[in-house]
Amino acid sequence: MTRTEPKLPQLGQWSSTDELSALQDKQIAQTLEWVARSPYYRGRLGPGAMPSTAADFDGLPLTAKQDLRDNYPFGMLAVPKERLATYHESSGTAGQPTPSYYTEEDWVDLAERFGRKWIGISPSDTFLVRTPYALLLTGHLAHAGGRLHGATVVPGDNRSLAMPYSRVVRVLHDLEVTLTWSMPTECLLWAAAAKAAGHDPGRDFPALRALFMGGEPLSQARRSRISRLWGVPVVEEYGATEVGSLAGECPEGRLHVWADRVVAEVYDPATGKLSKEGSGQFVVTPLYREAMPLVRYNLEDTVELSYQDCECGWQLPSVRVLGRTAFGYPVGDRRVTQHRLEELVFQLPARHGVLFWRAKADPDCLRVEIEVDEPERQQATAALTASIRRELGVATEVTPVRPGTLVPEAVLTGSHDVVKPRSLFGPDEDWSKAVLYY
Ligand code: AMP
Ligand code: MG
Ligand code: ZN
Repeated sequence: MTRTEPKLPQLGQWSSTDELSALQDKQIAQTLEWVARSPYYRGRLGPGAMPSTAADFDGLPLTAKQDLRDNYPFGMLAVPKERLATYHESSGTAGQPTPSYYTEEDWVDLAERFGRKWIGISPSDTFLVRTPYALLLTGHLAHAGGRLHGATVVPGDNRSLAMPYSRVVRVLHDLEVTLTWSMPTECLLWAAAAKAAGHDPGRDFPALRALFMGGEPLSQARRSRISRLWGVPVVEEYGATEVGSLAGECPEGRLHVWADRVVAEVYDPATGKLSKEGSGQFVVTPLYREAMPLVRYNLEDTVELSYQDCECGWQLPSVRVLGRTAFGYPVGDRRVTQHRLEELVFQLPARHGVLFWRAKADPDCLRVEIEVDEPERQQATAALTASIRRELGVATEVTPVRPGTLVPEAVLTGSHDVVKPRSLFGPDEDWSKAVLYY
């Protein structure tokens, strides 16, 4: 990545919501010109209806994740294929891949958006990237964001056999990692792995400055537990493989949408109405994206979008992400969400040491298991039982299980042999790993 004068909007270049809209309006004609080159949108809108001005934008339909799938792999390609820099597919259990692809120029926008961390990323940082690289965007995104600011990036892919938790702890400690990027759950697993290796997460990693995280909903209680465990701030962001980083935290702890780079709207599926604020499904139009332009892409995440003033002065809308798990499961005549339950688990006093749990919403009883050590068992179980009954109003059965039950000790301490493929072995060697090298 060459470091020239920034061409895209930068934080601080606008000082009101009106100036922000003006910035969007200035770019939208260009965005729509790119859209007009997309075979998918040409087919869908028809040659006579291709938008060309900001005024045309209001009439444009939503684009769904299914549209991306139906046009796999390159039905949305709006540049000569030679210009593509990377190809990605998003996670998801469904069989159909959801493709997305970017040019080198698209990557400048992506890396800059990720790089907007209030705590800063600098050449003196050592940045552990602990999200997947294979097919997804997230690992590459953080990698590029870190490189853009001169950090030393450590590519620690969380789905690679080469990087078990024991190695993560070694790297965090020995390399004096200052910043990390992962899902929130990872930071709990590192804490457990650090303890298993004889370290105190809050004391033995003094170089650590902040934990960047995203990818899954994070309750306030879990967030503060993670932050206290490691003794550093948590900096959250919200994004997706198909569009990159969409929102990041300001120094006030609010999640702001990068509205200079994407037009954000909310969609109410009940009325079919799109609004500039309020609650509904999050819909975005990336403004600086050429390879695969998207118009009103519906992320299908339930959010609340607002233009309240914020002390940070960034003059960007705020978003609260409720995600796709917002609806939960019925127990008796109530609905239990993961978010509320997570809050109660992490509101337990830290001394109980409960980090890992699971729950099953049976029709008339919420069955919960918590990993907890012997001396804390009774108190932790009683406290959680009481708070679930009180706060959620459902019947519950909380069972304490021995540490290692939900997250096996071997996962925290083990290491795999990852070797090169081999076919010829000596007389005393184990040849069971022939050809298959892991
Ligand atoms: P992926 O498609 O694998 O890139 O994952 C993107 C999805 O993860 C989003 O559409 C959200 O549902 C979820 N997600 C990402 N960041 C957050 C966040 N900060 N809070 C809640 N959910 C998130
Ligand atoms: Mg997704
Ligand atoms: Zn703010």
